Amino acid sequence: MNKGKKLYEGKAKIIYEGPEKGTAIQHFKDEATAFNNQKKSTVEGKGVLNNRISEHILNNLNQIGIQTHLIKRLNMREQLVSLVEIIPVEFIVRNIATGSLTKRLGIPDGTILSKPLIEYSYKNDELGDPLVAKEHLIEFKWIKNDIELNFINNLCLRINDFMQGMFRGVGIKLVDFKLEFGKKNIGGKDTILLADEISPDTCRLWDVSSEKKLDKDRFRKDLGNIIQAYQEVARRLGIIHEEANISEVKFGKPKAVNIKNK
Ligand code: UDP
Repeated sequence: MNKGKKLYEGKAKIIYEGPEKGTAIQHFKDEATAFNNQKKSTVEGKGVLNNRISEHILNNLNQIGIQTHLIKRLNMREQLVSLVEIIPVEFIVRNIATGSLTKRLGIPDGTILSKPLIEYSYKNDELGDPLVAKEHLIEFKWIKNDIELNFINNLCLRINDFMQGMFRGVGIKLVDFKLEFGKKNIGGKDTILLADEISPDTCRLWDVSSEKKLDKDRFRKDLGNIIQAYQEVARRLGIIHEEANISEVKFGKPKAVNIKNK
């Protein structure tokens, strides 16, 4: 499928114009960043795994009636998606306290929350995605009104319910995750679609029995075996074969071989 011009390049993805008006192509890169871009690296194969894992989750959410931007996966690294106007808010859903929540409030790491907690961050790299109150969302018109906010909060909780069950079924605790939503005019009506990605880059996933981290914290905290952890998630979700092994799955571009030295 022919890609149009580049519309946006983020830390882990590139968005190109799609083949038809109102569509875009979302390309998953191998770049990993953390701490507002202060830590950067390339994790070979990450983009391929996130593309597959996000496709799997968004398709499943679609089946329970949650509208998403995903139209279809095109290849190893790309998805055809609906072009939406992104709401500049990150919706963070937490089931267990960890990460910035524990640092900010001194809550012990691993505290189980009595019910899911939704936090909001203003999507702005220069400001470091600051945490904001729900009043800010409406005052600064990132969200239209309380009705729209309640609608999105409800979607966050439904997505959390579904994903918690899905991961629990394969021995993984869904600790927290980030969601983004976009708006699109469908048939003359502003419609809210789940956008971006859901993957081990945007979720915290702990093994139920060992509490081993199977997500981007392996990169943030230099725990090693990042790609193996992402593969483990894909394997448990049945996206890649049980026996698939990093040495058998080729993710990167073919490497040139220097024949003279052979
Ligand atoms: N998260 C994300 N993108 C962000 C910020 C957070 O995907 O820009 C995800 C993160 O992977 C985690 C959850 O949201 O699953 C909560 O992150 P937290 O606020 O604890 O932030 P961090 O510790 O990463 O600063």
